[in-house]
Amino acid sequence: MKDSEQRLLKHQIKPTAMRLVVLNFLLDQSAAQSLTDIELKMGRTDRVTLYRTIRTFEENGLVHRIEDGSGITKFALCAPGCNVEGHHDLHVHFYCLECKETHCLPKTHIPEVKLPSTYKVLETQLVVKGICSNCSE
Ligand SMILES: [Zn+2]
Ligand SMILES: [Zn+2]
Repeated sequence: MKDSEQRLLKHQIKPTAMRLVVLNFLLDQSAAQSLTDIELKMGRTDRVTLYRTIRTFEENGLVHRIEDGSGITKFALCAPGCNVEGHHDLHVHFYCLECKETHCLPKTHIPEVKLPSTYKVLETQLVVKGICSNCSE
């Protein structure tokens, strides 16, 4: 069995041809991708099927969504710690003002934010903007 197939099964996702194609595509990317990016780069994809695939991946802890302030939701693969019960890899995302790419910084964790007791956190996102390592060379 191929690695990508195993990865889907580990997240309780039935490995269909489409899901394998999308997962393999995401494995090849160094930056987070929007649905439109994926659609354009993969070609021959039905948007609805693609949307459902990404949704399933997200619900089962295989990808996470990133709001980087560009107004376009992007998706990136999760670290192995995430699973069907939830996302546990709270890391900082970096948005490069030069190449407009968004990168996961899995080793840079989001510090715990202290809120007034009457506020309940459901999601925390931290996006740092600047120039990425590729562009600053
Ligand atoms: Zn860059
Ligand atoms: Zn990320």
